[in-house]
Amino acid sequence: ATPTSIMAGSGRAAEFGILFKGGEHLEATHKIDTILLDKTGTVTNGTPELTDVRIAQGYKENELLQLVASAERLSEHPLAQALVAGIKNKGIEIQDPLSFEAIPGYGVKATVQERELLVGTRKLMNQYKVNIDTALEEMTNLEQEGKTAMLVALDGKYAGMLAVADTIKATSKEAVSRLKEMGLEVMMITGDNRQTAQAIAMQAGIEHVIAEVLPEGKAEEVKKLQQQGKKVAMVGDGINDAPALALADIGMAIGTGTDVAMEAADITLMRGDLMSIADAIEMSRKTISNIK
Ligand code: ADP
Ligand code: MG
Repeated sequence: ATPTSIMAGSGRAAEFGILFKGGEHLEATHKIDTILLDKTGTVTNGTPELTDVRIAQGYKENELLQLVASAERLSEHPLAQALVAGIKNKGIEIQDPLSFEAIPGYGVKATVQERELLVGTRKLMNQYKVNIDTALEEMTNLEQEGKTAMLVALDGKYAGMLAVADTIKATSKEAVSRLKEMGLEVMMITGDNRQTAQAIAMQAGIEHVIAEVLPEGKAEEVKKLQQQGKKVAMVGDGINDAPALALADIGMAIGTGTDVAMEAADITLMRGDLMSIADAIEMSRKTISNIK
């Protein structure tokens, strides 16, 4: 590869908002055969909104919502921000929790007004031995609509469920179909549950889904694909995605995402939509074929 053509290629890519960290990445990109897309903030807009509230028998909606918002207000997770904003919108006043603990990949644990709160996944409830039998059917229904449902336990008992919905980016579906036409295998990875992940993937035209991956597990999944001989481009925006972005053959960070993701990646996609992935690979292929 001649340095001149690599430089010209990088320059042209930059005009499209595709920033290669070095010329070697422009070269490596043309060998990619598998695209692994993070769900939240990559395939989707990443700004979920509160859509559903279910209250278990014997609990009061306003009281429970106030406790949940107070428990979540110190969390930086987009799901927590969606819950807090949605509850505030209902005119409910929020307090500071007495204690707060984020449990990455599971949810939060907090003490509010001397009451013990858990908000999060089935696994979180199982860990704390909360009986959620009466909630499961409704939870699955919400998830099959592509929503993320979070269970709430109050003093060790199931008390209600809140769901948020995130929407796929306007160009995600078209971009996925273009990537497939280019002969690339497209997959999605997420910490979210299988039903929600599959509903979102279907909207975007993605068949392969890796769901319920714990925050530290995304890099592990990249490694597994590489061990199958695949050349993997990981695309993500979050702190959670950084180890996978670093390990992948090519890491692509969404420019609207976290600095941590951009630092770990080889390419930053400033436009933030998935069409840029196809553009980057096309430009790399062209640059390399001009050299050969
Ligand atoms: P993602 O890959 O979508 O960013 P995470 O790995 O951060 O997901 O979280 C996985 C799941 O854990 C979420 O879908 C949610 O059910 C639960 N969870 C995480 N953080 C919170 C929180 N602050 N409040 C409630 N639930 C949470
Ligand atoms: Mg994300």
